[in-house]
Amino acid sequence: MGLLQPVNGNERQSLKAIIESKNGPRRARLKSLTSRILRRYKLYAKHSSDLALLSRSKFQGIEREDCEHCYHHETTPLSHLKEKVVAVLPASSTLFCPLCGLSFWDTFDHFAPKSVFPEFSVLPKNLVPCCWKCNHLKGDSWLVGQPLPVLNVYFDKWPQKRFLEASVDFDPNAGALVTFSLARKSFGRIPRDRHQKHFERLKLDRRFAAAGASAVDGYRRSLSHQGYSDRRERKRYLRQEAGALAEKHGPNHWESVLLDALADCDAFLDSPKLSPLARGQRRKAFIHLGENSLESRVKALAVASDLGNVS
Ligand SMILES: [Zn+2]
Repeated sequence: MGLLQPVNGNERQSLKAIIESKNGPRRARLKSLTSRILRRYKLYAKHSSDLALLSRSKFQGIEREDCEHCYHHETTPLSHLKEKVVAVLPASSTLFCPLCGLSFWDTFDHFAPKSVFPEFSVLPKNLVPCCWKCNHLKGDSWLVGQPLPVLNVYFDKWPQKRFLEASVDFDPNAGALVTFSLARKSFGRIPRDRHQKHFERLKLDRRFAAAGASAVDGYRRSLSHQGYSDRRERKRYLRQEAGALAEKHGPNHWESVLLDALADCDAFLDSPKLSPLARGQRRKAFIHLGENSLESRVKALAVASDLGNVS
């Protein structure tokens, strides 16, 4: 089962609507390419479980330019297509990048890069809503016949169980050192080396660690402000938060994994209660927590979200 459901919709109809929105000679040229593009769509569907098997593209020169123009120039049919792509994001997490869960999605990655396969520029199932960072880190490298650098959110069989692990080295004065890694045990149907490659290509260890160290500080303040001084209370609170996040975003959401690691970290559970903050400091702590909380991030994106256009 993929992380996201493949995009539903009539790919032929979407392509034709985009071509009809073009003018003059470009529209005529694209019309003459339609049957070739659709044959390539069929090949994509045939190899969707292993897209490394896609044969090399033969679209070159002006054909390549015309195919890429379908994506590079915003039109109403293209906007409709993007809306369909975004609609596959889980209702509970429509704003977050499905690859990292750290940031809001704000771009579309062409899984089979359009610089290598221009004919898939506007194939809905080739578009992955994700954050700029993940898009940038994935890049355009693609070697025909070689294992793909990043897992596919639609077609790879993602494990349903937790495969992400975290450990926390906590010092009340120095703060937390958080380490994320992949579990050594089974990864379901995805070979471990592919999973590891995905993790490394997107630099998820470093990105999760940075976000985690900041979040630990926020959770320590949160526990103090809520008066949880007993270690059992703290542990229960952290487990509950971890469970709620896992239910909403999946068992491998970085923050859920982190909270379970904190619940197992004796140094964190036994850390002294923070002294009451002065009024100004309290406001600062509130802002800090607010920036880290999922809800405030959702609110921020509700203002800033737009259909991005990178890659
Ligand atoms: Zn991301």
